[in-house]
Amino acid sequence: MQDVVEKVYEQVVARNRGEAEFHQAVREVLDSLSPVIAKHPHYADGGLLERIVEPERQIMFRVPWVDDAGKVQVNRGFRIEFNSALGPYKGGLRFHPTVNAGIIKFLGFEQIFKNALTNQAIGGGKGGSDFDPHGRSDAEVMRFCQSFMTELSRHIGPSTDVPAGDIGVGGREIGYLFGQYKRLRNAYDAGVLTGKGLGWGGSLVRTEATGYGTVLFAQSMLATKGETLEGKKVAVSGAGNVAIYAIEKAQQLGATPITFSDSSGYVVDEAGVDLDLLKQVKEVERGRVKDYVARRPSAKLATSGSVWDVPVDVALPCATQNELNGEQAATLLRNGCTVISEGANMPSTPEAIEAFQSAGILYAPGKASNAGGVATSALEMEQNAGRTRWTFEKADAKLTGIMADIHDSCVAAAEEYGHPGDYVLGANAVGFTRVADVMIAHGIV
Ligand code: NDP
Repeated sequence: MQDVVEKVYEQVVARNRGEAEFHQAVREVLDSLSPVIAKHPHYADGGLLERIVEPERQIMFRVPWVDDAGKVQVNRGFRIEFNSALGPYKGGLRFHPTVNAGIIKFLGFEQIFKNALTNQAIGGGKGGSDFDPHGRSDAEVMRFCQSFMTELSRHIGPSTDVPAGDIGVGGREIGYLFGQYKRLRNAYDAGVLTGKGLGWGGSLVRTEATGYGTVLFAQSMLATKGETLEGKKVAVSGAGNVAIYAIEKAQQLGATPITFSDSSGYVVDEAGVDLDLLKQVKEVERGRVKDYVARRPSAKLATSGSVWDVPVDVALPCATQNELNGEQAATLLRNGCTVISEGANMPSTPEAIEAFQSAGILYAPGKASNAGGVATSALEMEQNAGRTRWTFEKADAKLTGIMADIHDSCVAAAEEYGHPGDYVLGANAVGFTRVADVMIAHGIV
């Protein structure tokens, strides 16, 4: 790293103690920027780098609620409004017991560059809570969401900050959050949240968008080598929104996904994943992966090792951050895997990324390959603003076009800065320069 960039990193570590994931995300972006700043030194002027790593606003709040037993529970809520150069803050809400300020900060930081890559007018933000929806009744989830929104509503709005879903926040939670927002504001501001139900302002394709986009990105990478997904074996981790629709798109494109997982273990289904059964278990019954295995003779549940031990051609990490480490990357490579497209945010550790890049395989970082979700959220905002609703075909075509643009702009930037095929550098360079140019235009704010 250049001196100027190294100094910024040291400051981030000193100022944000103990926030390892945030340090990791900043390091990756700053590492990529060395060739960009060497070519365009003005990006290091005006405290631009120092400003871009500091959130514009961080909100942390108490979320008290009453469980079904009548006991008061207290969770912690977060919203980090990181950068509004390109538009209103935009990024999901995560409900998971591991959520803390450092996790939300890393996600918000990544979101700035991801959103810029989509070429839509959206800034970067992220939020959530250490609330765990697993095992909670619908009524408990509703009461939690209502309490969470009672505070969050002071800080968001269709032109200010537009949250969406992430881990633990799907259609049910967005519904409860929207209901409470509407009640507090006495206004039907459909554009305040995305990921809404189709009957009340949601966009077709939003549910599928992140998973679909991740696979479309893999397909674009393969096309640079004259290959397709047809006939390829695929390992997917996770069994939530992103994983399910990555499996669906991979199947549509002729590949055979054979794995998925949740925090209880991973499933290998050599006959190929039965998507209808997986949707029934996960989306309808809110069950665990063992419930799939119980009804599918070709599937086996593993509780030791990892999903990355399974020999495949393509790996799609779609669960959570740092779920694929250096050793697991080595196993994937040894088994002949040649394509990694990240559906999750920062799922590969720095050691894993290093292994993929040294091996010269196709590796796409999440901020590029999973940007289809937020891109379609921006399309949802556009439909809400125009009080209109597009067909599935129109929204799907827009998503496909956006993913192709992101892919091509990453390729072009990697070449421009002397690292052809380096999608990490390409994604960071494109995202950064788009945001940085606008920050310069807006002055020191
Ligand atoms: P979901 O809550 O729908 O699903 C998450 C899945 O990952 C679940 O199967 C969950 O298992 C598993 N998982 C989560 N944390 C862990 C963990 N610590 N260890 C093992 N398994 C885990 O979330 P999404 O599918 O929406 O999100 C998945 C990833 O994709 C996240 O990194 C998210 O930030 C990213 N992403 C999501 C977007 C979206 O549109 N939803 C957009 C862009 C990125 P269990 O139920 O057992 O916890």
